[in-house]
Amino acid sequence: MSKPKDNLKSNGAVISAKTGTKESIINFLKKAMDKGVFDAVLVPMRVPAGDSFVYVLIKDKSLLKDVFPLPPVMSVQGAKAVSSVTRLGKGNMKIAAVMRPCETRATVELTKLGQTDLENITLISMDCPGVLPISDFLDDPNKGMKLFDDAAKKWDDKLMRPVCQICDKSSMVAGDIHIGTLGAKKDTFFIISNSQKGNDVLEKLAITLKENIDGWRAKVKNISEEKQKKRKKAHKDLKSEIGGLDNLLDTFSQCINCHNCMKVCPICYCRLCYFDSDKVKHPSEDYLQRAESKGSIRFLPDTLLFQTGRMMHMSYSCVSCGACEDACPVSIPVAQIFSMIADETQGLFDYVSGRDVEEPLPLIAYKEEELHEMEDAND
Ligand code: SF4
Ligand code: SF4
Repeated sequence: MSKPKDNLKSNGAVISAKTGTKESIINFLKKAMDKGVFDAVLVPMRVPAGDSFVYVLIKDKSLLKDVFPLPPVMSVQGAKAVSSVTRLGKGNMKIAAVMRPCETRATVELTKLGQTDLENITLISMDCPGVLPISDFLDDPNKGMKLFDDAAKKWDDKLMRPVCQICDKSSMVAGDIHIGTLGAKKDTFFIISNSQKGNDVLEKLAITLKENIDGWRAKVKNISEEKQKKRKKAHKDLKSEIGGLDNLLDTFSQCINCHNCMKVCPICYCRLCYFDSDKVKHPSEDYLQRAESKGSIRFLPDTLLFQTGRMMHMSYSCVSCGACEDACPVSIPVAQIFSMIADETQGLFDYVSGRDVEEPLPLIAYKEEELHEMEDAND
């Protein structure tokens, strides 16, 4: 994503949404496909059974009428979808990928890790009111749809997942184009460009960025500051609950080592995970020896090693998307724990995961003096 000269300091466009925001976004995508700006669109769609949403790569624009740009649950993290499409190269189709800000940020992180190629992808994000926990939605999908719609209209996060309730980056613009609904007048929304690619797309669609978006900025700032306060408190409470080895062992004692949290995480970037490799398979004598020295060992073994290993890998890039927590069959608050650790690690490097594709990963841009800062932080 090449940055435009005036980046987000620029104005936006106000788009009429008399038929509803969802329909207007669909019309925008249709128009862009009609004009050949995009060859395909990657966007969430409800599955025929109605109880889940998946990303679909749409070539036939007549199918756009069935998409859900802002679904009530995050069954698949969008960055994983972009990575599947471009992991082996940019391909020859110009694709619009429509997703939430945390999905866009994860895509940006994967780009830095060489696992997506954004040359032919235009990332389109939108203000996100959060998502419902998947387990709640599955209890009654139709009721879930209604609850989500009502809550999203009022920007009420009480029913959303715990990590969404404390997300202070729910309108962060990290992609090429952003759709802002906060602070917009009735039956309208803002379109904001965040890159030269975004500018080019909007120019081809004859959308000029001349409207003032201060109303959107002010609303986003208010919500973000409010959420930051809630986030700090939630992390403080969580730390007192799970801090220290004994508490951490208790927290992960229910872990069944299914690795769901790893499989759904967009940021888990190793091509072969150590914990899925033969390296963690030991001869029975090793287990007997360990049982002898400790009196007993649990099976499956090494659950805490798996979690701490993942934390070390992930804490620089975790975007607090909550996908891991949704996928945990035993309701361990994995995303809340990971986002707490991520805030601390990223804070040490003044890094915000996925904020900017040009911002190098902390471990790549490591400076010697940072080690001392970390020592101080650990004192
Ligand atoms: S660790 Fe969990 S919250 Fe963080 S990016 Fe991965 S799935 Fe999302
Ligand atoms: S999803 Fe839950 S049970 Fe499965 S490995 Fe992760 S923390 Fe453990």
